[in-house]
Amino acid sequence: MAHQWRGVIREYFDRLDIEQDSPIITLGEGGTPLVEAPRLATLVGAERVLLKVEGMNPTGSFKDRGMTMAVSKAIGHGAKAVICASTGNTSASAAAYAAAAGITSVVLVPDGKIALGKLSQAVAHKAQILQVRGNFDDCLDLARDLADNYPVHLVNSVNPDRIEGQKTGAFEVVDSLGFAPDMHVLPVGNAGNYSAYFKGYAEDLAEGRIKALPQMWGFQAEGSAPFTMGGPVKNPETIATAIRIGNPASWDLAQNARSVSNGLFGAVSDKQILWMHRFLSQEVGVFVEPSSATGAAGLYKQSQQGADLAGKTIVVTVTGHGLKDALWALKDEDGNEIAPTSVSTNADEVAESLGLVRK
Ligand SMILES: *Cc1c(COP(=O)(O)O)cnc(C)c1O
Repeated sequence: MAHQWRGVIREYFDRLDIEQDSPIITLGEGGTPLVEAPRLATLVGAERVLLKVEGMNPTGSFKDRGMTMAVSKAIGHGAKAVICASTGNTSASAAAYAAAAGITSVVLVPDGKIALGKLSQAVAHKAQILQVRGNFDDCLDLARDLADNYPVHLVNSVNPDRIEGQKTGAFEVVDSLGFAPDMHVLPVGNAGNYSAYFKGYAEDLAEGRIKALPQMWGFQAEGSAPFTMGGPVKNPETIATAIRIGNPASWDLAQNARSVSNGLFGAVSDKQILWMHRFLSQEVGVFVEPSSATGAAGLYKQSQQGADLAGKTIVVTVTGHGLKDALWALKDEDGNEIAPTSVSTNADEVAESLGLVRK
């Protein structure tokens, strides 16, 4: 009998760090599709490339996997309010799960750099939104300070419950493939998700579900690439706002994940990100926000620089839905606005503008 996916806590209860009698706040997150992307595989010269489509989560990004854990545990501890710093998707998710739990959410967003779709979600779920005169890194410092000194519970990915929930992405990949991919590719901002997938795979390895770890390949935007620069970046800049982070919170976890998995960090330009954003929409059929195309863009760059991917099975996490930051789709390669062609109701005229020849 078909059963409805019950959210990551119930599906993976025995493999998560959560008390037996904990409340469970869920919106049915997880269970996202692993989509075969044959033309992307051809482009990079790999055997198979599959996209883990995290835009299919309840609020449209992978953040929900961690938020169900963080908010459930916060409720278990009697929290009446949660707080987070956010480039957008964390706030959308925190606001939704707080609404489901019947508590207050406070979100700190950086000045002027949050995509409209994400802001509208936080507003819709009635978060208290404060725009901080500073960047994301300043917002996170402030959120930590407030959580240390006032009765608000921090739900950023510095909270280990977030990473714990997000590791279920790796469990799902292994459950659907039956083995671990050769490489797992991700965009990297705070590196929480990169570290979370590694944790999931490492647990699968320890429990004998897989024979080897995938190499963890993480990619940043060139203007915001502390991992390739070797240290924090003061004024990070990129159109990929979800990864516009200069001082990654999960620095040490990510460095460990890279070295144990024999993985790599790389950086791609905004132009390469937007090219891949368009490729995924047009050649794969998956519409993601620009940040989410960064992993695939990095994979492509590696292949162009000579990485031999022949025979490899590669999973790429595409982190958030295209509608979050939809305006990028309405521009062509040269940045010109794309608008529909206006036509009359006459079929012959419409056919002509489509270049169709009568049968
Ligand atoms: C949060 C986010 C990222 C970055 O994830 P980290 O865990 O901060 O590295 C990438 N893409 C999207 C769409 C996000 O929401």
